[in-house]
Amino acid sequence: MESLCLGKHVWAISNKKDNLWVKWVNSVYIKQCSWWNYEAHANASWYWTRIVQTKNKLKQVFTEFEFQAFQYNIAETYSKLRLKSEGLWPYALIWDSFCTPKHRVISWLDVRLRLPTKDRLIRFAVVKSSVCMICEDYDETHSHLFFSYCNSRKVKEEMSKLLGWNMRSQDLVCLVKGLKNRRVTQGRKKVYMSTIAALVYFIWQSRNSVLWEHKLPTV
Ligand SMILES: [Zn+2]
Repeated sequence: MESLCLGKHVWAISNKKDNLWVKWVNSVYIKQCSWWNYEAHANASWYWTRIVQTKNKLKQVFTEFEFQAFQYNIAETYSKLRLKSEGLWPYALIWDSFCTPKHRVISWLDVRLRLPTKDRLIRFAVVKSSVCMICEDYDETHSHLFFSYCNSRKVKEEMSKLLGWNMRSQDLVCLVKGLKNRRVTQGRKKVYMSTIAALVYFIWQSRNSVLWEHKLPTV
């Protein structure tokens, strides 16, 4: 976290800020090299070496172009690095997208399999049956709601046609991973992600409404 304070210098260099310090490091250290690929010399000062190390850390979660467009923010950068270290980096797209906070939270709980679906609630004796109250044919599990059961699958297929995004994957985890690696602009990825997050949210809300009608616990 502490080294991320130096990220503001990395950002200033990336954006070629018009100040004396940036001009100085360009003339003394970076010269004609690409800043994003630059490595500090062994005899460079301790402070400069730390800045270059911070830049290398940021490279794990940003392309140079993304970093230039980013309004440098330590908390958000720390969160991205933490997700990366926990092996959850593809899902950072959920937090980066344009979606509203409540859509993000439900989607995040979904990819981490933390939504209290009935198959989980029955283990804690919160409900007596794990049967899905929408279709009444299958157990209510994460994979059933997102997106195996017929209605959610149909909506996803319609959304797929509208967006021109072939969402073949049957669950949110695969969709997010696939989207992360998709060769489309970052802006388009964010639009796709926010749309699918809205779908997850509304499926969860409609499931909650049905449970509420049956006077069963919801979140
Ligand atoms: Zn069902």
